[in-house]
Amino acid sequence: MKLHEYQSKQFFARYGIPIPRGRVAATASEAKHIAEELAGRVVIKAQVLVGGRGKAGGILLAKSPEEAEELATQILAMKIKGLPVRKVLVDEAANIETEIYLGITNDRTARKPVMMASSAGGVDIEEVARESPEKIARMHIDPLLGLRDYQARDIATSIDLPRDHWKVFGQIAKGLWKAYQGSDATLAEINPLVITADNKLLAVDGKMVLDDNALFRHPDLEEMRDLDIEAPSEIEARKYGLSFIKLDGDIGCMVNGAGLAMTTMDIIKLFGGEPANFLDIGGGASSEKVAAALRIILNDPNVKALLFNIFGGITRGDEVARGILAALEVIQTDVPMIIRLVGTNAEEGMQILADAEMITAETLADAAKKSVAAAGA
Ligand code: GDP
Ligand code: MN
Repeated sequence: MKLHEYQSKQFFARYGIPIPRGRVAATASEAKHIAEELAGRVVIKAQVLVGGRGKAGGILLAKSPEEAEELATQILAMKIKGLPVRKVLVDEAANIETEIYLGITNDRTARKPVMMASSAGGVDIEEVARESPEKIARMHIDPLLGLRDYQARDIATSIDLPRDHWKVFGQIAKGLWKAYQGSDATLAEINPLVITADNKLLAVDGKMVLDDNALFRHPDLEEMRDLDIEAPSEIEARKYGLSFIKLDGDIGCMVNGAGLAMTTMDIIKLFGGEPANFLDIGGGASSEKVAAALRIILNDPNVKALLFNIFGGITRGDEVARGILAALEVIQTDVPMIIRLVGTNAEEGMQILADAEMITAETLADAAKKSVAAAGA
């Protein structure tokens, strides 16, 4: 479960991390009201659960309450990466001199949490991580000992933080660790942690991802769950009992079984393709379910090929094949479909599909290669 920026920052503040004054608003007039209270320049920030809001135009500075109202109107009408903006955070604007990145996540390989920091924080941190990873300092944290003072100092040195900020930085780093550990988080991140013109450290942005399996221990955090946040295609999928997660690639995947779906995505990547989604149509998929899944996958304009990988156990191959053809009677599409069927009645199913002039594949590797080729064509 992800927390919104305003929720993350309020949570951080409980652990002594300095955050700007401000409040969240659902309407432009509320935003104006908050700006009047704050008296001065404010920043209006879209509260959506995706990164890159700044680059998408969802973070704007306002000089007056009137301008705050105007910009809030504008932002509340936006969609960012497909998500409608339903709330804005109105914060006292910071005069930013330096943007630092500070985050904690789990390092599964090391089986320990790791703190990461960089003096090149801000909206381009992904690019920094990709192109100059040496600019990101890393420090593993022993979960039993917690973040030690010397470790916080080490990190401050690694990112060339001026010495007069070490003490407060240490408090912030330890506060972030306590927030992370105390909430069973899988990510706690401040980007940017800024040095202001009056030489203070301030957490301007905040992000937290909590472990769903531990939420029962944190009913107060569970209450913060925002039900408005899922991609529309994911909500639609749930109506039909499909497990669907939208991704950024161009090869749609229709698979029965979660493990098989993961394998399918891995093999697509192995042959140089990018999956457009995760989809498990479940056992005993009816043609109605197959049709719904097809509609949801093909609704994504990025999809250039569609790979069916069906293992016939409870689901019979011929039934799936008829389901696919029935669905294609109502859905018009030029997207090439590659089908691999094995298991119960696979031969009958493949015959039905071959007769309908669909691309069939004997093995999963073959199907993945054909899909990558079709998407690239
Ligand atoms: P993100 O794009 O979703 O990560 O949103 P952030 O809250 O990190 O804001 C993006 C960028 O907007 C920051 O890196 C800052 O450069 C800028 N920004 C955010 N808040 C303020 C502020 O109060 N004052 C100023 N001057 N810039 C801000
Ligand atoms: Mn940010």
